[in-house]
Amino acid sequence: MKIRHETKKLLSIEYIKIKSITGKEYFTDLYQDEIRSLMEEAGEKPFRGRQIFSWIHKKTTESIEDITELSEELRNWLKERAEISLLKVVKRTISKLDGTQKFLFELYDGNMIETVLMLNQDRKTVCVSSQAGCALNCTFCATGSMGFSRNLAAGEIIEQVLAVTRLTGARISNIVFMGMGEPFLNYHNVIKAANILNDQKGLDIGARHITISTAGINDKIEQYLTEKHKYKLAVSISAGTENLRRKLMPISRKYPLTKIRKTIRKNPGSGKPVTFEYVLMDGLNDTPEEISGLISLVRGLNAKVNLIPYNSHYKEFKTPPETRISEIAQMIHNAGVKVTVRRSSGSDIQAACGQLYSDVKYS
Ligand code: SAH
Repeated sequence: MKIRHETKKLLSIEYIKIKSITGKEYFTDLYQDEIRSLMEEAGEKPFRGRQIFSWIHKKTTESIEDITELSEELRNWLKERAEISLLKVVKRTISKLDGTQKFLFELYDGNMIETVLMLNQDRKTVCVSSQAGCALNCTFCATGSMGFSRNLAAGEIIEQVLAVTRLTGARISNIVFMGMGEPFLNYHNVIKAANILNDQKGLDIGARHITISTAGINDKIEQYLTEKHKYKLAVSISAGTENLRRKLMPISRKYPLTKIRKTIRKNPGSGKPVTFEYVLMDGLNDTPEEISGLISLVRGLNAKVNLIPYNSHYKEFKTPPETRISEIAQMIHNAGVKVTVRRSSGSDIQAACGQLYSDVKYS
């Protein structure tokens, strides 16, 4: 895969402006008031901004031509300056086990990302990617082995949800930022995407139904909590001792567990508990030493633990037996810490946590 030179430039800036590359505004990437400003430039009333925003995010329209509430003249004016859709669907796979769907999308510059739709009785959750590839190299995660290409613009994150809605007709209730990439290394675009997904005039996904998961980028955790965002925050821990965590998640050298704990302890954020995600791997991080490390880490914090039994990708890591998983959950519970076990979906189509990998290598 060849990455175009200009996309490399995107790594050094915070807000990605697609317009600076394609020459056109990317509507999906704009807040309501940004569309309103564009309408003012067209000599239109400000309410048109809200109207277009709703067509894009509520009706999930893909082309300016289809916004029939606008005059033909205005549509033509807009078509020269903006576009709504940039993602191309390359592949769609459906799990025979549980109906989970996985989508491979191509971005405007040829980069590939994956998105997953999980269907529960009461929830329809889209797991979005925030970067093309990932730079963190967690030893157990498939995405890490792809290498890293670039950050996604907010619109490229949002369009994953819009495209899944268009393709499946599903009314999406939950969003998790747990696909490819590290959301907090693309902080501004991720927060912007969450804000737009949360907008009542658009998809209107409740803040409690949006989860942002980070491998532990401590300064961004601090920023997030200080800014008191309402979305749920999850931090991937996956080891109870620093020693093991450094081996599994190299980012721990820069942001050790003690620092993350301190940040969460002194910043209540919006008051919601933080979820500590713990990928359970047989004989590795399921030992008494690691689990008691995890318990000491979480105790006294407004936090809970979510155990994720390892989804196979690498042969050297194994899922612990069910009995061991229940024992560990019980130990954590007995220590007075809230704990849940996540049942992953879509493992037969490599759509489960840590299995996203687009057959493309960057690096
Ligand atoms: N970079 C972010 C978000 C992506 S990963 C983060 O690390 O939080 C989403 C979750 O999947 C993380 O909690 C990660 O630890 C977990 N995960 C990674 N590989 C996995 C695997 N093979 N099996 C189960 N969970 C995995």
